Amino acid sequence: MGARVEEFAVAIDVGGTKMAAGIVDATGTITERRITPTPPGADAEALFSALTRIVRELDASRAVVCGIGCGGPMSEQGRLVSPINIDGWHNFPLGARIAELTGLPTFVDNDAKALALAEGSWGAAVGKRHYIAMVVSTGIGGGIVLDGRLLDGEDGNAGHIGHVIVEPGGRTCGCGAQGCLEAEASGTALAALTGTTAEDADLSLRERTGQLVGRGVASVANLLDLRLAVVAGSVALGFGEPFFRSAQQEIERLTHLDFSRGTVIRPAGLGAEGPLLGGAAVGWRGLGRPMGMFT
Ligand SMILES: [Zn+2]
Repeated sequence: MGARVEEFAVAIDVGGTKMAAGIVDATGTITERRITPTPPGADAEALFSALTRIVRELDASRAVVCGIGCGGPMSEQGRLVSPINIDGWHNFPLGARIAELTGLPTFVDNDAKALALAEGSWGAAVGKRHYIAMVVSTGIGGGIVLDGRLLDGEDGNAGHIGHVIVEPGGRTCGCGAQGCLEAEASGTALAALTGTTAEDADLSLRERTGQLVGRGVASVANLLDLRLAVVAGSVALGFGEPFFRSAQQEIERLTHLDFSRGTVIRPAGLGAEGPLLGGAAVGWRGLGRPMGMFT
């Protein structure tokens, strides 16, 4: 049976500072939305009840699926989540618990992979079969679509561009390696480097951050034969034009293969709605629906 426009998804986005839940129709329109702060330092059950509270407020009567975008990493293709920025959840069975609550088929994926699906369905990558979507924010994540399919990998963690090395011998990353993109260009890294917030970054720091992101994207373009990066996240979008110009220049400096030349980096298209639409897209994918079925 084909999908119908009047079908709805319960969409959930779980982040380190806030959790959001909403109702999204199959064309990517958010019809209802609730947001709550992620309780800092809370244990697993307190976190889950904060999320439960906003999910219960939704009118899910016409929903056929629930999709969740959650910070990584995760294991067993999303069955267990251990978000790096939420200490209370380690190997937490988020999908199963939400399925119990809603009675809906429920699917969980990494939030950056979720964004990749949403950007391909309704955003800046509509109609593209090969691209990377990135979030450059407190941390740095990514999701890769190749041949029209989102890459999963062994445990569901494919696309972690935040841990591509961009400065050999550089800062030590939370993962234990040195010079990872996340250790050099994330909001957390910038705060540690400058002792101030990303909002106060001067022009040279904005440009350097863009340059490092461009360096990571160039490696991905050369590796995977893709030519488009769409970038969301408070650091990238907040830094704006200097960030994207420097990233583009670095990509052009480092992509010289016939197939990688011409790689373009640009802002993601969905703005603040991206994370929740990402959750919905995870749900539709779980049901086997193609990306952008009603764009
Ligand atoms: Zn790392």
